[in-house]
Amino acid sequence: MAEARLDFDVMVIGGGPAGYPAAIRAAQNGLKVACVDAWRNRDGSSALGGTCLNAGCIPSKAMLESSELWHRAQHEFSAHGIKVGSLTLDLATMQKRRAAIVRGMTGGIASLFKAAGVTAIYGKGRLLARREVEVTAADGQVSRLAARHVVLASGSVPSELKALPFDGANIIDSWSALELDTVPRRLCVIGAGVIGLELGSVWRRLGAEVVTLEALDALLPMADAQLATEAGRHFKKLGLDIRLGAKVSAAVPGKDGVSVRYADARGEQSLLADKVVVAVGRRPYTEGLLDAASGVTLDERGFIGVDERCATGVENVWAVGDVVRGPMLAHKGKEEGIAVADRIAGKYAHVNYELIPSVIYTAPEIAWAGKTEAQAKEAGIECKAGVFPFAASGRAKAMESTAGFVKLIANRVTDEILGVHIIGPMAGELIAEAVLAMEFRGSAEDLQRTIHAHPTLAEAVHEAALAADKRAIDNINR
Ligand code: NAD
Repeated sequence: MAEARLDFDVMVIGGGPAGYPAAIRAAQNGLKVACVDAWRNRDGSSALGGTCLNAGCIPSKAMLESSELWHRAQHEFSAHGIKVGSLTLDLATMQKRRAAIVRGMTGGIASLFKAAGVTAIYGKGRLLARREVEVTAADGQVSRLAARHVVLASGSVPSELKALPFDGANIIDSWSALELDTVPRRLCVIGAGVIGLELGSVWRRLGAEVVTLEALDALLPMADAQLATEAGRHFKKLGLDIRLGAKVSAAVPGKDGVSVRYADARGEQSLLADKVVVAVGRRPYTEGLLDAASGVTLDERGFIGVDERCATGVENVWAVGDVVRGPMLAHKGKEEGIAVADRIAGKYAHVNYELIPSVIYTAPEIAWAGKTEAQAKEAGIECKAGVFPFAASGRAKAMESTAGFVKLIANRVTDEILGVHIIGPMAGELIAEAVLAMEFRGSAEDLQRTIHAHPTLAEAVHEAALAADKRAIDNINR
């Protein structure tokens, strides 16, 4: 059969945090690249950036920052000797700021594409046989393009609970929950995962009564146990009412609000809420993406099947980001996208799946990388742990942010750093040093001998490394 006409060297389907870096890197590698994206804003306009920029990471961080400032102005300014009188919440301005940040960031990708020579195609892409891609534009126009390589990066969408289907008004997903124009008096969040905790924090700080229903019996079971316990204490202090072991069975809108029914260890329960946010995970988004003739298959959980190189098994068809196995994190997708673009160009690429940092942008912030203490022990590794509390950090004290600690776990025999777990101010920034140290297979001694500027929060990482050998200077060694 004759080879189809080639329009591009690489076509990337999906312009989110996995797809757009793949497109840019492929163009940097001298290839002719197009990126097809189907994102539609509420007003019908197109935008690059996917969920992360339009409806997830970026807008949520904007709202977390604004709500945290509001909270601090109310509860912390007086400790600094700043009297602000009565505060007024202007949610409309807060929301306008969020929207402007999103517009700026998504527009930024369009500019990056232009500068790199990537062709942006706004429409829904569908992979056919032999790397032909059918694109349906917003106006319904259908075209067919062919590429030497196709990278599938279609992302994920919120999982729905059968008993609580999204209605866009009372039972909403995380995107809608970021865009509320009034602070709900009573908010029920289903799921105490990353999204549930971040969104619950936003609206709690802004004044909502928040009840979070979590099916599991433990809070943050994927985190180090010491971190999870500390986090639970702070969420309680904020006033988040997190109910564990709660199995939700129904939500019925009525005139007094939505009646949410659930069962826990004490039996059948119910509560009334003005809004219910369902944040029970996300699922890979592949609707309409793959024609049967494409040959690309999904695994039993609906993810596109790939090997460790992100190859689908169909010649020159790759898949990256949330639509393939592994944590649904923008930074994991980004590295996969870049790696695939380099592989296509015949270059060496590597993604270290063992060292993907996790960050939860609550206050205090939570971040970790590598093994938890329990995982290290389960693996039969003889380990040592060093903990340094931010209460002993001069910088944290000056910031009035002394909650939390840094915990470092190292191999007792080889001294290699196995994991770093941080709860406290700027944890998401501080974890980068730990990831770098572990990427280079550094030891606790390496961190101990690295000069950290004083006074900084990063000194807490230094001191935790020292504490692993009971040599901390600024804290009593136990
Ligand atoms: P998640 O998997 O992190 O948490 C979902 C939670 O809902 C789990 O604790 C689960 O036990 C619970 N749950 C599931 N079904 C339930 C039910 N019927 N009733 C009550 N609880 C139930 O998922 P998420 O918070 O929705 O986030 C989705 C994805 O997006 C995750 O992969 C997450 O890592 C990613 N994300 C990351 C960040 C970040 O890195 N800061 C922020 C937002 C989202």
